[in-house]
This record gives sequence, structure tokens and C-alpha cells, in this order.
Amino acid sequence: MECVLCGKEAVTRAEVDGVILDVCAECTKYGKEIRKVVIIEPKRKEIVIPEMDYVLKEDFVKIVKDYRMKKGLTQEQLSALLKEKASIVKKIEEGWMPPLSIVSKLERLIGTNLLETVPDAQTKRKDNTSVTLGDLVNMK
Ligand SMILES: [Zn+2]
Repeated sequence: MECVLCGKEAVTRAEVDGVILDVCAECTKYGKEIRKVVIIEPKRKEIVIPEMDYVLKEDFVKIVKDYRMKKGLTQEQLSALLKEKASIVKKIEEGWMPPLSIVSKLERLIGTNLLETVPDAQTKRKDNTSVTLGDLVNMK
């Protein structure tokens, strides 16, 4: 993109006599710089990688603990089986919600599904900060 006025590299846009032009830094003085569009490349789509939406089974901790007890493993030994830090299982049993990668390792190890299936609609509603039906009711 070249500065319309002098041919140098345009770095911003300015409104000159009511026309929006790509201009270099110097030529902004001929018009009113439009700071909002300093970046000329198309506005990057906001890439929000949503936190993986998953819900652990209610008795997730119990399942893990039961499995560990049944196998006669210490928390450290089970962590080692998962190839995770020794403290991981301790944290899990204390109620820490492990990332999905660890959950799936546990699922494979224990051989059971540890996630609740969350219906799509419900997942979406969680991300949505707009008014929920519940709020509407409360407003009355
Ligand atoms: Zn210029």
C-alpha cells in the first residue's frame, strides 16, 4: 500500500477533504488521521479459542480414587502412569479440574468415560453473557 499523496509506504489512513486515503506517517498532516484503522490489513478475526467446554462427571474424583485404591496405587504412582507430575493425582483428588488431555489419559487408563455429555445448546448459552431466561424472570 502506497501513500496516495507522496508514494511512500502508507502506514495509516487519514481523512483529507472528506476522503479517506491511505497515507504515510508524514502525510497525515494534510488531513485528519483516522487512528482506528492504523492497521491496513483487514481486521484480524478475533480468534478466541474457547476453553474446551467439558464437564467432568459428578463422581469423577471418586472414579479416579476408586480405581487407584483398587489397583493399590499411590497418588504418585498413578501420576506416573499418566506420565504427569507426581502431584497431579493429588490435585485431582482434591477437586482440581484437570485439562482435557489428562482426563482422556485417565479415561484410557481406567477404561471409562469421565465426561458428562453437554448438549450443544447448553454449551453455547454458557458463553453467552446476554440475558438468560432466569434473568428475565428475576427482573419482574
Ligand atoms: Zn505520504
